[in-house]
Amino acid sequence: MNVSPASKTTESLQDLRDSALDDLARVVAAAGDRAFRARQITDWLYKSRIQSIDEMRNLPTSLREYLKQHFKIGGAEVSHVARSADGTRKLVVHLEDGEEIETVIIPTEKRVTLCISSQAGCAMACEFCATARMGLHRNLTTGDILAQVFAASRELNSGEELTNYVFMGMGEPLANYPRLLKTLRIMTAEWGMAISPRRITVSTVGLVPVMERLAADMPVNIAVSLHATTNALRDRLAPINKRYPLEQLIDSCRHLPIKRRDRITFEYVMLAGVNDSPADARRLVKLLAPLRAKVNLIFFNPFIGSDLNTSPRAAVEAFQAVLLNGNLTATIRESRGLDIAAACGQLYAEQHRAAFA
Ligand code: SF4
Repeated sequence: MNVSPASKTTESLQDLRDSALDDLARVVAAAGDRAFRARQITDWLYKSRIQSIDEMRNLPTSLREYLKQHFKIGGAEVSHVARSADGTRKLVVHLEDGEEIETVIIPTEKRVTLCISSQAGCAMACEFCATARMGLHRNLTTGDILAQVFAASRELNSGEELTNYVFMGMGEPLANYPRLLKTLRIMTAEWGMAISPRRITVSTVGLVPVMERLAADMPVNIAVSLHATTNALRDRLAPINKRYPLEQLIDSCRHLPIKRRDRITFEYVMLAGVNDSPADARRLVKLLAPLRAKVNLIFFNPFIGSDLNTSPRAAVEAFQAVLLNGNLTATIRESRGLDIAAACGQLYAEQHRAAFA
């Protein structure tokens, strides 16, 4: 964390929410105050979730003034909420620089999951994904990601509480790794949001070396967006496969330092006539046989400009049956929020329809 003594314009101020406890210890030392103040600041930021430095009432005025000279608390506002009949709420979150990202609150009987974006747009060019059409606008900072979580929390219904967090929104989280890691540290630390890492899942389309780093750095759950059982098809559906082909991806998953009881989840979007045949299912069984794997079969949500269609339910169930017969754990993820543009990036696309036509 780089703190220069010169006063700065608001835009150039660093976001205080980009700071872990050790960063704040350095800031407090630079301000000439005592070490315990760092912990007071993390309490305000991550437990009380205040939105301005002036609200940090137990800090001396001199320290608050020092913080205001060098930092801001970045904002994020929910600019649009689409509510589905099944309770899912899709939020468009407006960031300070005008970027818009999507965040989804998904309540089920037992849990309330927040689907978080890690980038504005995405550079991975997956064929089945609406966000891919945007290209990458920018990486989200740690402060942006946390502001997004806090803004979404303010949209919860009374009595509702977030229980699970999945990095499956816009962007490839592992392409924004240093900021993701800092975010995960803040989310899981006792001085931060104190969320159990077992309640957090990071999904990747297969950035193999970074996935290995994540598994070593943080005991969160890892999900892999797989979607194909041959390199030829995966090269097309998820072009990162040209860099890290299936064999390398699966071999890497096999050697991840993951606890024995944990399984890696593989996401598989069901595309009619593309990847949903019994032969695909048999290849998937073979591919995942060396792993403790769980497969989530997902109905594809069609979006503007895509020629892909979702597989009929009967085909999805037949596919699942082959996986179960092959001793794989396989679930069908019911599509939530279909009536509100459920695919990642789709609501954004519908709000910026002209650019996607
Ligand atoms: S599926 Fe994920 S990694 Fe692929 S383009 Fe969409 S957001 Fe990016």
